[in-house]
Amino acid sequence: MQGLMMNTQLTITEVMRLADKVYGSQEIVSVTSDNARHKYTYKDAFSRVRQLANALKKMGAKEGDTIGTLAWNDYRHLELYYAISCSGMICHTVNPRLFEEQLEYIVNHAEDQYLFVDLAFVSLLEKIQDKFSNVKGFIVLTDKANMPKTSLKNVQCYESLIGAELDSFDWPQLDENQASALCYTSGTTGNPKGVLYSHRSTILHSYASALPDAFNLSVIDTVMPIVPMFHVNGWGLVYSALMVGSKVVFPGPRMGDGETLCKLINEESVTISAGVPTVWLALLEHLQKSGDSIDSLQRIGVGGAACPLSIMTEMQEKHAVWVQHAWGMTEMSPLGTYNSLKPGMETLPEVELNKVRLKTGRPLFGVDIKIEGPDGSELPWNGVAAGSLKVRGPWVVKQYFKQDKPATDENGWFETGDVATIDSDGYMSITDRTKDVIKSGGEWISSIELENCAVNHPQVLEAAVVGIPHPKWTERPLLLVILKAGEELSKEEMLNWFDGKVAKWWTPADCVFVTALPHTATGKLSKKDIRQEYQNFQWKD
Ligand code: ADP
Repeated sequence: MQGLMMNTQLTITEVMRLADKVYGSQEIVSVTSDNARHKYTYKDAFSRVRQLANALKKMGAKEGDTIGTLAWNDYRHLELYYAISCSGMICHTVNPRLFEEQLEYIVNHAEDQYLFVDLAFVSLLEKIQDKFSNVKGFIVLTDKANMPKTSLKNVQCYESLIGAELDSFDWPQLDENQASALCYTSGTTGNPKGVLYSHRSTILHSYASALPDAFNLSVIDTVMPIVPMFHVNGWGLVYSALMVGSKVVFPGPRMGDGETLCKLINEESVTISAGVPTVWLALLEHLQKSGDSIDSLQRIGVGGAACPLSIMTEMQEKHAVWVQHAWGMTEMSPLGTYNSLKPGMETLPEVELNKVRLKTGRPLFGVDIKIEGPDGSELPWNGVAAGSLKVRGPWVVKQYFKQDKPATDENGWFETGDVATIDSDGYMSITDRTKDVIKSGGEWISSIELENCAVNHPQVLEAAVVGIPHPKWTERPLLLVILKAGEELSKEEMLNWFDGKVAKWWTPADCVFVTALPHTATGKLSKKDIRQEYQNFQWKD
């Protein structure tokens, strides 16, 4: 027998309707390329979203079309998110940090019809515009006064474009399974792959990620998403924050600048924020130098890469900010696990408590996780057995955009490419990427754990550990270290740091001090490039 409840479609349009009606007076604050502090309300935002929807229609864009954005986190980008998806089109957020060939590839692969571009990226597009096969025109995200001289063809100014339109729009009735947004993985191996989110997957992900044991969002919060909106929908905060009516603060092009972040936190009373470890390092460095405080900030979600303990302790001890570790990926919208404490854990001795907090957290309801050994057998949740991590759930990719084959195995599980342990409390811990794992003497060594240990050294700024072929042990870990400015350290001192902190045989076999390390377009260490550079490294013995 079927239930007898309404089959209301879970669409982003409904988030917009609620946010507009119920939370209309809430503020959205942005730093943009043409304005140091722009402020307006949800009501203003959605009025402009309707003007933009009219403009898109007039431009000939229709349901199912892909519209690209190359933009920072700000109010205009937010307007694009809602106008495009709620019109039944697909909002393709393009990562401007990609190499030119990758940009060309994804804009063509996605068949973007128009590109909305931030002032900062106009010159980037000028160089490659002739290589785009489907793009009919460009819209620069600024007003008439700031419109640059540009060789972009068929170019328009955003404010002039929407300013000419009415602010009423009849939104189409959408099926919840319709595509809403598209984001490509960074493609560290091969071409980038497109992940095509649906309205349904986005709404379910928003519900789950707003829960108290995840982002814990509410109407009384002020949320500052530091994670770029061109990377997995700003971790979904662009939807979840508006779903609950939080005030939103966007740092725009200044998201890597500690001073701006500090100012925004204090002047806009930010209570919660989220971003990758690097942005917190930038903020902490500013706080150290300036002696400023960040009193309103209560908690931050950190993910995308392992969060060093030093960030957690400094944030907590010096600034009373609670740091929560999270894990996810483009293919998962992105949230998979979030770290919050279970009852009784807060009184654990510090060392034990830190061990729990460094784990990437428990799966959210909706995300099923498991780990498998090399023979495909499921491994126990004992916190020790490390295996290939698989996931499934309504906001996990089923198939990449325009690929014939499913992205899942025969039982519907998606292989994440991560190696993890899961403990009996359900806390997962990423030990490596499958391709980065170090195989030494038949055993696995976790490069992430070694990197975490190295960056906890007070003189170390950044560290990478890669497995390099070794005649006796198959591979041994090689440590690469960038020291903080003005610091000096010998190889021996660095390697001795691992004594008592990791198993003896895990200790890196050698160490090289470097001044830079290669990163991917999403700011992660590019281990592939490091391995290539050091593949012929000569071991001492
Ligand atoms: P990209 O696809 O561009 O690398 P993603 O955000 O999709 O960007 O990357 C997802 C990967 O990032 C995960 O599979 C995992 O390897 C890594 N990752 C994410 N969060 C964490 C974390 N908290 N700790 C360690 N690694 C993480």
